[in-house]
Amino acid sequence: MALDIKKIGIIGVGQMGKGIAHVCAVAGFDVVLTDTNADVLKSALAGIEKDMNRLVKHDKLSDADIKGALKKISTSKDYKGFKDCQLVIEAAIEDEQVKKQIFKDLCEDIGPDTIIATNTSSISITRLGAQTDRPGKFVGMHFMNPVPRMDLVEMIRGIATDEDTYKTVRELATKLGKSPVNAEDFPAFIVNRILLPMINEAIYTLYEGVGSVLAIDTAMKLGTRHPMGPLELADFIGLDTCLAVMHVLHDGLADTKYRPCPLLVKYVEAGWLGRKSGKGFYDYAGDEPVPTR
Ligand code: NAD
Repeated sequence: MALDIKKIGIIGVGQMGKGIAHVCAVAGFDVVLTDTNADVLKSALAGIEKDMNRLVKHDKLSDADIKGALKKISTSKDYKGFKDCQLVIEAAIEDEQVKKQIFKDLCEDIGPDTIIATNTSSISITRLGAQTDRPGKFVGMHFMNPVPRMDLVEMIRGIATDEDTYKTVRELATKLGKSPVNAEDFPAFIVNRILLPMINEAIYTLYEGVGSVLAIDTAMKLGTRHPMGPLELADFIGLDTCLAVMHVLHDGLADTKYRPCPLLVKYVEAGWLGRKSGKGFYDYAGDEPVPTR
């Protein structure tokens, strides 16, 4: 029987966790957030409020909506605060070992019926689900960035995911105003299987000197009508996430066409992760982003 979802726990309050909390609270669900970084957790509500206020400017939310939604969100320093959640959505960093440890710890503190969804961009739902005590109640729920503005949610069943779980979470995506699309459990699913190799190729194009950052982004915007250039988009996604997805594609599909560009590796090693660290293919210190090559 489909579970009646009222309260949703969210693990990881980075750009995705914040966005997921935002849409869940606006849709009327109670939300509880946790993150290993205490500073991130402390500033989470202020960050979500700032994002909500941007939507007021576009007449998508009223001040009263925001007030009501923010009241629905609380934080917890550990998973004990998740014990009365019917659903937990994991949105921590794209690292398989980190996610596996999260699921092991989480299962000790939540009820046996609680569904676990992961927002992973690329990692096998079957493999992650196998780390839990409930692979039948484990599912992939892949939101797009920025969550409040993007309509798609990719829905992915692991081999063991039961139909009630899949249906419950798919219905929830609809209640959040999103359009769910089914993807099978192969590395990086649909969107990132197509998008990330394109971004990686754009980085090779830069690495080989075919064009500058600005030339590549301008060419792709004007030449293919993409709203953002691929390097600008890579910075927006986070270069650490881009690299992690390329590793999953390369390892999972064993094809050299997915090898991560050495320049992407170098940027991540330098801590140049894109917008979230203030520098990637662009430097975000000033009013306007400035290309770093
Ligand atoms: P982010 O770097 O902005 O945030 C990750 C957060 O996870 C950080 O706040 C970090 O402190 C926290 N964290 C790390 N280890 C943790 C742990 N053990 N327990 C709890 N929290 C922990 O990353 P993001 O862009 O929000 O990505 C999060 C997830 O969403 C990843 O799996 C990513 O692949 C996926 N995703 C990202 C995008 C995107 O465009 N960035 C789009 C769709 C899905």
